[in-house]
Amino acid sequence: MVFLCARWGAGGCSSPRVLVMRKERMMRTVMLASLLVGFALPCGAGAIAAQRPEQLSPQVLRYVTVLEPVVALVNVRVIDGTGSPAVDGRTIVIRDGRIAEVGPSTAVTVPPGARVLDFAGHTVIPGIVGLHNHTYYSFGGRSVQMSYTGPRLYLAGGVTTIRTAGAQHPYAELNMKRGIAAGLVPGPRVHASGPYMNGEVGPGGTSPPLMTEADARRVVAYWAEEGATWLKASGSITRAVLGAAIDEAHRRGMGFTGHLCSVTFREAAALGIDNLEHGLITNSDYVKDKRPDVCPPENMRAQVDVDVQGEDVKATFRDLIARGVSVTSTLSVYELFVRERAPLDPRVLEALAPEARQALETDRQALMSTTNFSVPLLLFQKMMQWELAFVRAGGLLAAGVDPWGNGSLPGYGDQRNYEVLVEAGFTPEQAVQIMTLNGARVLREDSLYGSIERGKLADLVVLRGDPVRTPSDIRNVVLVLREGVGYDPARLIADVRGQIGSR
Ligand SMILES: [Zn+2]
Repeated sequence: MVFLCARWGAGGCSSPRVLVMRKERMMRTVMLASLLVGFALPCGAGAIAAQRPEQLSPQVLRYVTVLEPVVALVNVRVIDGTGSPAVDGRTIVIRDGRIAEVGPSTAVTVPPGARVLDFAGHTVIPGIVGLHNHTYYSFGGRSVQMSYTGPRLYLAGGVTTIRTAGAQHPYAELNMKRGIAAGLVPGPRVHASGPYMNGEVGPGGTSPPLMTEADARRVVAYWAEEGATWLKASGSITRAVLGAAIDEAHRRGMGFTGHLCSVTFREAAALGIDNLEHGLITNSDYVKDKRPDVCPPENMRAQVDVDVQGEDVKATFRDLIARGVSVTSTLSVYELFVRERAPLDPRVLEALAPEARQALETDRQALMSTTNFSVPLLLFQKMMQWELAFVRAGGLLAAGVDPWGNGSLPGYGDQRNYEVLVEAGFTPEQAVQIMTLNGARVLREDSLYGSIERGKLADLVVLRGDPVRTPSDIRNVVLVLREGVGYDPARLIADVRGQIGSR
């Protein structure tokens, strides 16, 4: 088995961050060398296991339609994930799970013995890297782990890498990740994230209460040992506790993100956070008279008054960019809280278990009442403008689905992000880049995957049609390749039908 080590995989390391980073560069060199010659490299808890065809179990092989070591996708349109314009008439040669060649079909020679798949009329994009891609689904006051349905639906939707951004059932998630890595379960590669890093936790909470810096260090160290590679702060955490948690995570080679409220984006950037979830709507920098370390009740509403082109926003962008803090866009999930929009994807209803579907229908009726949480249309538009301005200022924006009980589902919501990002003003190529290469950059694994470039892992999505001309063609997934192994989305979807919210 070939293990690929990356920065966040270096669990158990207690050296200062600078040493971690130096070690990371060394590990990368060793890792790339091991990839080229194919020898085994032992590594830490968060390692990525390359799925070799011979390691796939019958439970996985039943979804596989492309297994040959050398495959050529010919006559395709390519959006390569780097932001470059889409190009027609390309051939992509895959050899042993990696992209061996990509170029004009007139110039690239198809190797003898290759399996040739003529995809005229189709577009190929890199596998989607989803950074806010939970493995649980919440409805009716409970949360159900999607260990069976989640990985299948993510893969079917074209998502080949996920970072889970908080787990409600962290051991179930870690076991699911191991099952995928061992070839027992079809699914994306997984960065598991452990429980939420909160401050005070109520009697119904699932996360460890972190009241002191010592609490933070103890809990972070524990989850690093258990195999989490990222952690996510949320809710009422204080600056001191968050700072200690980030520091401990970095000492152990983990990444740290946050769905913040009590701590503002600029404060978190100063504390060394790597990534921030959701963008404008959770940024309490802009809440008037905000008290330090306290989550203002008007957060997620007050942002409607923010001048997106104003000085306050520019100051946030300056801090985030100077400190290399990326942002995860989750527009598709917030759109479902906008009364004037809240699109209902018929595929979602088909995928949900009967009880979950009933809960969704009840929630959608409640959304129209004035008492339930909703996102004003104007705020949603400002969220789109804020993200566009962040990227134009030089910020690193990635994306994720945030599957939630309001109808955002694995894969489907990731696809919807593409449509909304294009509506927000990004070019189709930029939107693809946000969902692929930028996610890989946030995970510090862009040397391995995230774009259609020679030498990278062959994580590819074949779409019928042309999402540049027709954004909704992003939904027409006909084949998903993960490390060169091709999965049939229809079979994956058929096997989760009516089961999201039950297993
Ligand atoms: Zn979330």
